[in-house]
Amino acid sequence: MAVNMYYLPDHAARCGFYECRNCRARFLDVKIAPRMVCPDCGKFPDMEIGPDEEMPAIREDAVLLQVIEGEEECERYDKLLSLAVTGGDYDWL
Ligand SMILES: [Zn+2]
Repeated sequence: MAVNMYYLPDHAARCGFYECRNCRARFLDVKIAPRMVCPDCGKFPDMEIGPDEEMPAIREDAVLLQVIEGEEECERYDKLLSLAVTGGDYDWL
């Protein structure tokens, strides 16, 4: 299992909570958008692709689940996600 670190800038007052429909990764980002490229599986679809081949489509598999408002809430989610990643058995939502 890939291990993600979830970094929000200090004192972020608002962030988006995303889940990837492809690999189920959950993450936070200060950028709020309906869909995002997954930081886990969406970065580099195929590094082997040659210059003459078609560019792979960017897959925006991560879907915004929730907008987190408030500095404390952002911090709380940041911690929960870190716990989930490090193997904490946490009941979500
Ligand atoms: Zn993914």
